[in-house]
Amino acid sequence: MSRSAPKVGFVSLGCPKALVDSERILTQLRTEGYEVSASYEDADVVVVNTCGFIDSAVQESLDAIGEALAENGKVIVTGCLGKREDTIREAHPSVLKVTGPHAYEEVMTAVHEFVPPKHDPFMDLVPPQGIRLTPKHYAYLKISEGCNHRCTFCIIPSMRGDLVSRPIGSVMTEAENLAKAGVKELLVISQDTSAYGVDLKYKLDFWGGRPLKTRMMEMCEALGELGVWVRLHYVYPYPHVDDIIPLMAQGKILPYLDIPFQHGSPSVLARMKRPAHAENTLARIKKWREICPELTIRSTFIVGFPGETEAEFQELLDWLKEADLDRVGCFPYSPVEGAKANEIADPVPEDIQQERYERFMKLAAEISAARLQKKIGREMTVLVDEIDEENGVAVARSMADAPEIDGNVFIEGEGATLLKAGEFVKVRITDADEYDLYAERLA
Ligand code: SF4
Repeated sequence: MSRSAPKVGFVSLGCPKALVDSERILTQLRTEGYEVSASYEDADVVVVNTCGFIDSAVQESLDAIGEALAENGKVIVTGCLGKREDTIREAHPSVLKVTGPHAYEEVMTAVHEFVPPKHDPFMDLVPPQGIRLTPKHYAYLKISEGCNHRCTFCIIPSMRGDLVSRPIGSVMTEAENLAKAGVKELLVISQDTSAYGVDLKYKLDFWGGRPLKTRMMEMCEALGELGVWVRLHYVYPYPHVDDIIPLMAQGKILPYLDIPFQHGSPSVLARMKRPAHAENTLARIKKWREICPELTIRSTFIVGFPGETEAEFQELLDWLKEADLDRVGCFPYSPVEGAKANEIADPVPEDIQQERYERFMKLAAEISAARLQKKIGREMTVLVDEIDEENGVAVARSMADAPEIDGNVFIEGEGATLLKAGEFVKVRITDADEYDLYAERLA
């Protein structure tokens, strides 16, 4: 976590349902780059999740608010007692904001208002648009912090330190609580999801009394039991990733892998010091698709990395064509201060970077469009994200689309706007463009 990350103190009182709310708020805070402060003094703002069930709980909650005000001064109140805003304001007129139970979006809006999130494109795991609140039906599940690699273009390890995995019991409890609270899709995030548990030597932990190892495979199996969509982000192609593919083929977790390949030329990958760069990824991708033909692969790339020659760039284009990736993002290299890559070779001039970026994106768009064309006529289940009344469509996603970064499935036709966000719907794909699909609802 960045040293300058804004810090939020958190006091949680009350019943297990309030705890679910607290965990959701805490997950969202961490996802958006806030640190959770263990002390009042360090916190930029304090959230008190209250209980108002019986008189003694009301008093305990009012006391907790009073303590947070005395120690810190900036307090946001949420939870059951929030329904009685008058009682709270009478006792503590200076609280910044009062929200009721299960109002985590309002709490996050209040946190944004009083302590804005810091957005850093090189540090944040969520996309820039991710500052927008996660709708209730999907949630990010952060399984670790930091990273053991030292990619030459990246300064995350120097800011956040080496990999620190959360024990699997804690990850699974949070995932289970999110599922119980109505979340339909969990997005597993970290800096390096396939390395999960390495730092803990895959330590045995417990989830609901059941022993589980803190390891990617066991985590995926356990998450697959929750009955929600589970999507893996930031996976590196280590050999053990092969073991996850059958879980996808069996429908336990989504057939979706977000692997930030970053390049396709072995010499550039070596200069980048990318994890698992020596693996023969093209052969692996081919094998994965044989086992799980539904597999969607998304990735990001850097073009114009220092020293990148035209031949190396061409290797990347050839690699991409062969890999036939579904979803691709690309950034021209940008010299982050403190990154080793800035010293290892001459920078690629900006105009060449831009030209390569355009050539790369053109090819990526062609591949994406061709892959989406093949989906026309197919029936599939999609998850509704929102209703666009103005255009008379429901905006949904298929298993192949992560929120914010991938495409959408637009459900058209009568009744589309009567659908609800968070609803699973069966549709038939009627059309496709470069990045999105269009569909009609099946009876
Ligand atoms: S894997 Fe590389 S790019 Fe990703 S956080 Fe670690 S050092 Fe940075």
